[in-house]
Formats: sequence, C-alpha cells, structure tokens
Amino acid sequence: MSTSVETFAELGLSESLLKTLTEIGYETPSPIQAECIPILLDGHDILGMAQTGTGKTAAFALPLMETIDIKLNKPQALILTPTRELAIQVAEALQSYAKNLPGFHVLPIYGGQSYTIQLKQLARGTHVIVGTPGRVMDHLERKTLNLDSLKTLVLDEADEMLRMGFIDDVEWILEHTPEQHQTALFSATMPEQIRRVAQKYLVEPREVKIKAATATVAAIRQVYWQVSGLHKLDALTRILEVEDDFDAAIIFVRTKTATVELADKLNARGYAAAALNGDLNQQMRERVIEQLKSGALDIVIATDVAARGIDVPRISHVVNYDIPYDTEAYVHRIGRTGRAGRTGNAILFVAPREIRMLRTIERATRQPIAPLTLPSRADVTNKRVADFKEKVAEVLNAEGLDFFANIVSQIAEEQNVSAEEVAAALAMMAQEGKPLQIAGEDPPPPRAFDKGDRRPASFGDRERKPRFERDGERGERPRFEDRGERPRREDRPPRPAPAGDMVRYRIDVGREHGVEVRDIVGAIANEAGIESRFIGRIGLYEESSTVELPAGMPKEAANALKRTRIRGVPINLRPDEGRPGGGFGGERKFDGERRFGGGERKFDGDRGGFKKKKFDR
Ligand code: ADP
Ligand code: MG
Repeated sequence: MSTSVETFAELGLSESLLKTLTEIGYETPSPIQAECIPILLDGHDILGMAQTGTGKTAAFALPLMETIDIKLNKPQALILTPTRELAIQVAEALQSYAKNLPGFHVLPIYGGQSYTIQLKQLARGTHVIVGTPGRVMDHLERKTLNLDSLKTLVLDEADEMLRMGFIDDVEWILEHTPEQHQTALFSATMPEQIRRVAQKYLVEPREVKIKAATATVAAIRQVYWQVSGLHKLDALTRILEVEDDFDAAIIFVRTKTATVELADKLNARGYAAAALNGDLNQQMRERVIEQLKSGALDIVIATDVAARGIDVPRISHVVNYDIPYDTEAYVHRIGRTGRAGRTGNAILFVAPREIRMLRTIERATRQPIAPLTLPSRADVTNKRVADFKEKVAEVLNAEGLDFFANIVSQIAEEQNVSAEEVAAALAMMAQEGKPLQIAGEDPPPPRAFDKGDRRPASFGDRERKPRFERDGERGERPRFEDRGERPRREDRPPRPAPAGDMVRYRIDVGREHGVEVRDIVGAIANEAGIESRFIGRIGLYEESSTVELPAGMPKEAANALKRTRIRGVPINLRPDEGRPGGGFGGERKFDGERRFGGGERKFDGDRGGFKKKKFDR
C-alpha cells in the first residue's frame, strides 16, 4: 500500500492538526490513514475495509475536523458506532485531535445514558456527534437532534452494526439525513448487506482496502503473548529475563512518546535502553545504532520509520510491544532479527481486540505464531538463581580467594555459625538491587481467544462519563469492549448459555412487532451495557418475548431497560413470572403500573454477578 507516504504533512492536513499530531506523538500515517485522508479531504465518499487497530479513527476524524466551522454551533458531522464503548472512545480520540482547535465540541450519545443529560448537551450545541444507531435515531425522531448542517457522516465498524442488529436503524438514519453530505463507511469485512447499503447511500465511493501482503519469514521463532493480567512492561521484563539466547532487542511501539517513555522505564529497571525515533537527527540515530552494535546498549525502543533498515547482527529479539498496523510492517519489524545466519526471535503482544490482526499476520506470513506462556515468578527466580550460580562458579575459579576464605572462617567462628550460613548471608547481600526472588503475584493464565473475550459478566458502569468530561481524572483510557474474534453470523452456533445464575424477564415486544432475536440482544446489550454473550436464551413469541439475564442486575441497568424501546415499542422489561413457553394469558397482568413491582428489591440485593466494568488494566 502507500508505504511511500511518510508524513502527515504530505496528506494535505492543516498546520494546526499537524501540530497536534506531533504533540500526541503520531509520527507517520498508518496505511489506511495515508489512503483515506487525501480522498476525504477531496470530498469523496469512501468505502474502507480495514481491521481493528489500523488507525481508522484518525483516518476519518482528521479530514472531517478540517470541515468543521467552529462558529457554527450545530452538528456538522455524525459518526455512528456499534457500541457505546466505541462511541466514547471515538469521541475521546476526536477530543484529543482537537487539542489546538479551541471551542471544538464533540458529544457521544448512546443508549443507557440519561435523556435529560443528553438533551441538555444537545441543546447546548456541539460540532460532532458520535453515537450508537438506536439512540441517534431516537433523537432524530424526537427532533432533539437536527442534522440540517451535516457535512460528514461516518459509519464506523459497519459489519459490527449489522451483526448487532442495527442495520435497519442505520438505514433509517441514512434516509433521514440531508442529501448533501460526505459519507465514509468502514468495515472489517464486506458482507452483502453492507455492500448494498454502500451502493444505495454512497455516491461514487472510492474503495480503500488495506490488504494483507504475503511474505515469508524464515529462521525466526515467532510467539505472541496475549495481554492480560499483567502490565505489558512487567511482562516484557519477565520475558526478556527468561529468554535463553537474549543478546539485544528492538522493541517496537507506535508513538515517539512511547519510545521515550518505555526507554526511561527500562533504564529505571536496569536495562541499557534508548529510544530511536523520528525526532532524532541522522547523526543521533546512527549513534544509537552504533551503541547497540557495540553493546553499550542492549535495547532500542523504536517506531517503524526510525527502525527501517537497521542491520545489527546481535539483535536476538524483536518485540512488537504495540501490534503493527499491517502485515507488511510486521514483516519489516521482525526482519531486524535473525540476521547474518543467526536465528531470531519475534515476540508479539496482542490485546484481545487485536486478535484478528494476529490471525492476518499468521495468514500472510504463512506461519503459525505460537502462544507464549508468561514466565511465572518461579521461572524468573530459577533463571536468576541459575545465573547467580554461574557467576559464583566463575569466581570460584578466580585467583586470590584465600584472603576471602579467611574472612569467612573468621565470621563463622565469631558468630558461631557454619560456613554455609555465612555464605547464605553473603549471597543475600550479593543480590542487592536485584533480588533473586521477584515479588508480586502471578496473574491467572489467560483463556483462549477463541472462547470469546475475557471479562467477567458485567453491566456497564452507568455513572461513567467519557474521560474528557471528568475533571482532573487521570488513568488509562477506558478500554473498549473487548470483542475477540467472532464467527460470522451464518456460521455462528446458537446462543450458548452463559454460566452463572440467570433470571428470566419478559418484554412486551414479539414477532408481531417485527422483532428478531438480534434486535433484542442488540438493544439490551447497548441499553444495559451488558455484553451480548451474557444474554441468555431468548424466547420469541407473538406479542411478547422472554430473555434471560444474569442475576443481580443493578438498579440503573434495570431502569435503563424499563425505558428501552425496540422498533419503537417500549419493552417494559420485568421479571417473568413463570409460564414456560410464554403463556399469553398472563400478559395483561403486567400493566404499566406493575413494572418491576416487587421484583425491584431483588436487584438491590446481591450485586455479586455484576462487577463494575474495568476500564483499566
Ligand atoms: P481502529 O479504529 O482501526 O481500530 P484506532 O483508530 O482505534 O484503530 O487506532 C488504534 C490505536 O493506534 C490508537 O491507540 C491510536 O491512537 C493509534 N494510532 C492511530 N494512528 C496512529 C498513528 N498514525 N501513529 C501512532 N499511533 C496511531
Ligand atoms: Mg475504530
């Protein structure tokens, strides 16, 4: 792909955005960005195919921000995302790209959030809306969202919206937006229905596809570690310490900032490490590489551009600390090891949401990448002990030990202890700064990707606000729903029963309302912030349906579901009182007044199954 594009400046972005990108440490555009940004800046519609983690957000966000008229306090861009986590994440990304655009406002709107708050925020005005289809549709219907000034419409992760049953809503929205606007549709896959939507609503779209280049990589042992339970930094040091033939490493990260941060942290842990990034001039770069060659440095933390072409035979390891954007970059990166006839090692860190990229890399390189078991504390200790023994053995062969032997016997005599005990004390002293036994716990072993994602059954934290609305809070970005790899709709097995106690609820929508199982799953998943795999069996009947949800639903989730509508019909969710098979006679028992009746107290009690979502790792 256009790997020839090396700077954002070449893409035609404004000075102020270029400045921001430098500030946040984006060094070079990812392939999808390099392709899409000029096309979107030219005003064309786009049909983009690229996987998660390829940098799509900036690919559409940067061009659309160039079109925003800050003085016009109306929504000029609408971005539809399948989940509220994504809506928040994308809104945050835009907010960060708007660092040097004073007065820029982006508003995430999603199901489950209070209408009162949303209405207030909408009334106050915003330039960009990022929302889930259901809620956006709702606001359009209520006329609380006006898209008359819309210039750009983005459908992010369209296949996911289809999978979650939102495609009708999406089409409805497309029908109800003014004709004149630019549309960008992104999808990891291009199922027929998405293609049809694209044909119908996009005007002469340019197609952009980031395809996987194939390549062979010989003589390199490739492994991956699924990021879980331990910080990447801790995992990295454990792994490097235990790797047998470690000599020197290049560690790849995405941003310039990250090269410096990681270098500092590794230095603090006693490694001879330095950053290598595009901020260094040629001379400085060469110096770093010289130092790596000579052994003055053991680790270089680099971005793709900066590391291009490095040829240092002693590099035994390449670590993809951040997963690359595409297979081409992966192949370039790992090509830094296994040089001059030596064998190399490539270690890839993969977050659950990046699993697809891992599989793509495997396909492209036609080589399986084996999972790496994180070394346990005991493994690290054993390695340190072995190294220690080796060092002692070396010294035992050295000259002039007599003087020290004499001291040891003196100590033994004076303290009335054995020479062994004295040796133990000396060994303890010798470990100074780097204990032989490492502290802390071992994380539980990760579960296989294929079994879906790894989070416990959870309803979302309903109080949570997007980060940029919270004051002074710092911390990791909220992590967006970790979706793992999912089978495509057609070959997906029937819904498996989630583990744990389930409660059956009844809702007032059924076949006669044109409702399908996926509508129910989608609405409940979004409105209650519950991941769809924790939604149990669904019974679809004529006038109503039943749905099983984990026991212990928090009140806020229950409240959100009380107000939820599917296909415009209030679902009126409440515990189902028996009658397996959904006896219709009882329907009328549950009138508006009785919503949640005595059931409500149940939700306040044991919240056991409802851990708050974790947004940090
Ligand atoms: P996608 O939407 O394709 O899944 P994102 O837009 O969420 O990918 O980007 C994934 C990560 O890569 C984010 O953390 C983002 O900040 C980072 N990123 C995107 N573009 C760049 C770039 N040009 N340089 C460095 N990091 C980038
Ligand atoms: Mg994205």
